[in-house]
Amino acid sequence: MSYKQAVHILIFTSLLLMLAACNTSNNNSSVIENMNDTGTENENEVKEEAVEEEEPEIVKELSLPSDVLQKGDQGQSVDELQNVLIHIGYEITDSSLYDNETVWAITDFQLQTENLLATGLYDEETRLELETVLDNEISLTPGVGLAFVEEEQIDEDTKTISNPYDVLALINKQHALPADYEPIDLVVPDVRFPFVEDLPKKQMRKVAADALEKMFGDADLESLDLFAQSGFRSYERQDVLFAAYVSNHGEEQANTFSAKPGESEHQSGLTMDVTSPQVNYALVTEFGETEEGIWLQENAHKYGFIIRYPEGKEDITGYQYEPWHLRYVGIKAATEIMERGITLEEYLEEKLNK
Ligand SMILES: [Zn+2]
Repeated sequence: MSYKQAVHILIFTSLLLMLAACNTSNNNSSVIENMNDTGTENENEVKEEAVEEEEPEIVKELSLPSDVLQKGDQGQSVDELQNVLIHIGYEITDSSLYDNETVWAITDFQLQTENLLATGLYDEETRLELETVLDNEISLTPGVGLAFVEEEQIDEDTKTISNPYDVLALINKQHALPADYEPIDLVVPDVRFPFVEDLPKKQMRKVAADALEKMFGDADLESLDLFAQSGFRSYERQDVLFAAYVSNHGEEQANTFSAKPGESEHQSGLTMDVTSPQVNYALVTEFGETEEGIWLQENAHKYGFIIRYPEGKEDITGYQYEPWHLRYVGIKAATEIMERGITLEEYLEEKLNK
């Protein structure tokens, strides 16, 4: 070993020793600081207990509520649900109100989950799928199913609704569906139609079609003769229809019995016009006085449907009485709306205070 090499090794070793010394002294000072921070041993014990107590609280915060929840609901259960949604990546506000953000997060989750129907409702099926995500720390990307967009003002008195999959979406002359919205889950319900052609208007969204089949089945048991006349209608079809009504009746008149494109509930796939042989399968107010019409008035809510344009509410809905126009909103909302004799407009205004 040369003299130079020996000096190098010596310098290197000294540096190592110095580094080691620095670390030790850092550790020592940390210990001292810690001791100063925590003070006496008794206080230490108190702090440790406090930490132990906090843990079960965190677990409790992330439990999924067992109740069925939906737009407009408030309280502890909604708060628990929002905490789970935030935990899995949704940037929503922990407001304890099932608001439009929460409806969006649930809808987006449902659209990303193969076995779920997109409704915006927090139901038993959605709870089980959320539980799987939570238990297995599965990561998902919010917005992949449904991008979050704000309502967009399209003219002086009309906004475009941001979440067309929400079964409690308000669609009327002030709230229009996006022109390009066509539901992804349209099916033909297995019920009677007064025509045989395979027309697009036979379709409804799966969640509404299932409910309609159940309702028609129960009506059959009571020897009623219900027929489905007209369900899904695309934006383009509504455009053609409305233009024809306008040229025959003028726009003001046409607007009382038909809807501008985007403003028809039929585009949502959540609606079916129903009728019976007693009124020659027509869509007329007399249908409301038939056995079928009366039965629907009393029972449609049990299957999640409301008579969307009731008599005497024309000022609120913007439409004349239509005893044949059934809209799916889910059993919980339908029951409250029909039992209280209110409209979807009144129901949502009351729940969301807007
Ligand atoms: Zn209708």
